Amino acid sequence: MTIDKRELYRFPWSMNDNPIAWLEVSDICNIHCEGCYRQFMTGHKSLDQIKEEVLFFKRWRNPDNVSLAGGEPLIHPQILDIVAFIRQNKIKPIVLTNALALTPELLRELKKAGLAGFTIHIDSHQGRPGWVGKSEKEHNQLRQKYADMIAEVGGLYVVFNSTVYPSTFQEIPDVAAWAQANIDRVHGLVFITYRTATESQVGTDITKQEVDLTKLSYVRDKFDERFVTSPEVYRILQEHCPQLAASGYLGGSIRHDSIKWLSGALIGSRKAIYGSVGKKAMEASQVFHHLFRGTYLAYMAQARIGSKVFMAAPFDKEIKKAARCWGRDVLRHPGRLFETIYVQSIGIIQAPDVMPDGRADMCDSCPDITIHEGQFVNSCRLDEYRLFGGFLSLTDKQTSPDSPPHPQEGGGKTGEG
Ligand code: SF4
Repeated sequence: MTIDKRELYRFPWSMNDNPIAWLEVSDICNIHCEGCYRQFMTGHKSLDQIKEEVLFFKRWRNPDNVSLAGGEPLIHPQILDIVAFIRQNKIKPIVLTNALALTPELLRELKKAGLAGFTIHIDSHQGRPGWVGKSEKEHNQLRQKYADMIAEVGGLYVVFNSTVYPSTFQEIPDVAAWAQANIDRVHGLVFITYRTATESQVGTDITKQEVDLTKLSYVRDKFDERFVTSPEVYRILQEHCPQLAASGYLGGSIRHDSIKWLSGALIGSRKAIYGSVGKKAMEASQVFHHLFRGTYLAYMAQARIGSKVFMAAPFDKEIKKAARCWGRDVLRHPGRLFETIYVQSIGIIQAPDVMPDGRADMCDSCPDITIHEGQFVNSCRLDEYRLFGGFLSLTDKQTSPDSPPHPQEGGGKTGEG
């Protein structure tokens, strides 16, 4: 599927003005996801180090939110102090979690400390106790548990993300349909395509020395499944929800035609989905947020938008379509005039692709950049720095560096994004 970038808004994010600051508070986790790119090497960071990193981000990144990641951030013993410190610095704290350690009591305390919301990672390749072998559809029960728990406390934003594996690709619509039925409490979905390097590749470090790739958690000895790309995820989503139209993107750092981040936002109520937010409205939301709040936006502050969203119809063609669809629905079912209208974001992330010459096509203006020894480093490749002192160059054992590029294929990194 070809996506025409001219139909989309290219997010204006950059290294020094980016809505997301990715802060890993720990590399310890309480489960082991197949797609994880982090391994236990150092444990929990100290509160002092974390505070320093928050201030570094504040100075050099101008973030709207700090995404607290890991490892599992909820098992950091000072997670409440971390959240409170970020809030004191007038930045939104967001916790990226597998939610295993999340209880109603901890949830209330996090909210009291100033938490803005969660991104909860649930998928069927996490080896969760009691959930092994269950489908994505069956995992909706677990998603529902956390969506309800968070809705009961109220005032918190929640996005569910999952890694898409070739073997679970066909199950994406089951997750999307569940989220749409819960549009009043699920504010967004993110699908991250699974990538991996394999032992059929050779890795060399910055001194051109060959390294032992098996030290990286995302290297597999065998991986013969076909990789999934973001346009494929978009296609399957659209097939099952034709109202979805992507409106924003980030391309690749090398390839002109790659789509690394693809975003859209559905408009609907608990009874029906009417359409999407288009390119113009996406641009307006970024520009006005920056103009009036000083930062670009990654997480919508308010999913309960109401029918006033249709006032943007004159300048946004996707919203115009949604408004017409809503109007027809209200004529057929007048009671729906009083149904609350929500927006629900849909994001697709395709992690780095390795080119035949060994360079990686990364996300342009990587939003999930983190700090390593006083420098910004793409978080999906942090372990290359931690283990080998810098980015590796990866080439297929049988591929010559002179081979032509292989669009959207090849080994890459597993990316959480
Ligand atoms: S960390 Fe990697 S996958 Fe995530 S946004 Fe940055 S380059 Fe993309």
